[in-house]
Amino acid sequence: MISDALRQSLATCPTLPSLPAAVLKVIELARDPDVKLQPLVEALNHDPALTVRLISLANTVYYTLGGRPASTLREAVERLGLEMSVSLALGFSLARSYGNRARTKGLDLHKYWQRSLTSAIAARELARHVPNELDSDTIFTAALLQDIGMLALDAVEGPIYADTLGGNLQHDEISLRERIDLGADHTEIGAWLAATWGLSPLSCEWIRYSHDCPVNQQSLTGGECVMLSGRLADIWLAPDGHKTLAQLEPWLGDDTFRSELLGSIQEQLPIIAELFDVDAPDRIDPQQLLFESKQLLLERSLNLYERLKKQERELAQLRENNAKLSEAVRFDPLTRLFNRQYLMQLFESCFCEAQSDGSRLSLVFIDLDHFKQINDKHGHHFGDEVLRAFAKLLQGTSEPGTIVGRYGGEEFLAILKNRSHSEASAFADTLCAKLRDQPLVHHAGVPVFITASVGVVSLGDGDFSLPKEMIHIADQRMYLSKRQGRNRITAQ
Ligand code: GH3
Ligand code: MG
Ligand code: MG
Repeated sequence: MISDALRQSLATCPTLPSLPAAVLKVIELARDPDVKLQPLVEALNHDPALTVRLISLANTVYYTLGGRPASTLREAVERLGLEMSVSLALGFSLARSYGNRARTKGLDLHKYWQRSLTSAIAARELARHVPNELDSDTIFTAALLQDIGMLALDAVEGPIYADTLGGNLQHDEISLRERIDLGADHTEIGAWLAATWGLSPLSCEWIRYSHDCPVNQQSLTGGECVMLSGRLADIWLAPDGHKTLAQLEPWLGDDTFRSELLGSIQEQLPIIAELFDVDAPDRIDPQQLLFESKQLLLERSLNLYERLKKQERELAQLRENNAKLSEAVRFDPLTRLFNRQYLMQLFESCFCEAQSDGSRLSLVFIDLDHFKQINDKHGHHFGDEVLRAFAKLLQGTSEPGTIVGRYGGEEFLAILKNRSHSEASAFADTLCAKLRDQPLVHHAGVPVFITASVGVVSLGDGDFSLPKEMIHIADQRMYLSKRQGRNRITAQ
């Protein structure tokens, strides 16, 4: 939004870009849909310098196409077309009054005109290359004047461009800087100025939105040709033209399209630049630039692919770590049985369920006998092997639905859902019988038998209100087994 203060400065600025009466008259005449050529030519004729340039332009290869050279202004205007003649009249007179030489302070006018002209040619060529039927001459005008707001801001707020000399700031950065410093950028000011000159609302709108990003990729509109034109001009004017070209890739069709587009812009640049008394930007080699921009895009997509692969690897690693962590939270690493913490969680929910639906629930608490002696006699490593073997036996003895886990060092717990006290005792009997009947492990080929002290408890054994009370009784009964000589089951 243009602030009131800025609007006031613009309105009262004596050095604001203005158009000679002849050009204003031409614009006014051109706005009439039934415009006649003669009054327009007469209006232009009031400006001899302008007349000479229009005739020169009409006689360039681009317009003559082998025909007879134009010798009068009327012939020139006929050849150039109305819109193009008006546009050039505008551009010529502005370039004339706003110089085109590098300045030590403020806006570099030479650069300014180079970019404006390149943009105008680029926009027109783009409009001619896309399949849509576009009014390439109106597009030329809007593109030529798209940065006219910079001339106005330079007149009103000179210092704003002081350090953009030498092209240190990219065009988008200039715009951002204007918005920060003045609250409005040159597209807004330019559209305002164009409106005060009486340019068509469409031209004003295209100037206003010249910094936007085109949304159509397949079929560009006129406004979108203008939006791309400044960026296309930067292929010639900003450093690393191939990078700019790579950024425009989505809108510039296939290789043939790009190559033809860049080629035809390049071809016209010196001719139009000379008419505007501006040095043409350095020639570019379209094929070389296209090659470099393709390399860049390829490099980027490879980098992207590698980044994607790396992220996939990291994600897989994270998933693996996560799985390991959630396993670690539930399992005892030595025996691969549930650990105490998880066992207690499971028991609590079994307990609550049984309490609420009146189902049966039993617990079998097992502590291996004289386990310390196994360690002392055969080493801790062998002790581990015994624990693993017992865990396997315990699991193998359990019915599906029975939850078994390692409660502590050589203490194990079996939770028997929906099982009565006698069923739990039978389970304990089977387990102890297995221990008695066959060696749990061998040490150096010698069979090693293990016994266990067991406590059995069922929900019906007491008036349990908390899960830990039931565990406590199971533990007590297991200790009773110990005190009574070990290798036995206490169920009462
Ligand atoms: P009791 O018949 O009274 O239960 O005697 P015990 O030796 O089995 O019981 P105690 O509580 O005195 O000793 C338990 C031993 O279990 C001591 C400890 O070093 C051993 N132990 C605990 N966890 C592990 C383990 O993960 N691996 C090995 N190898 N030994 C363990
Ligand atoms: Mg023990
Ligand atoms: Mg113990």
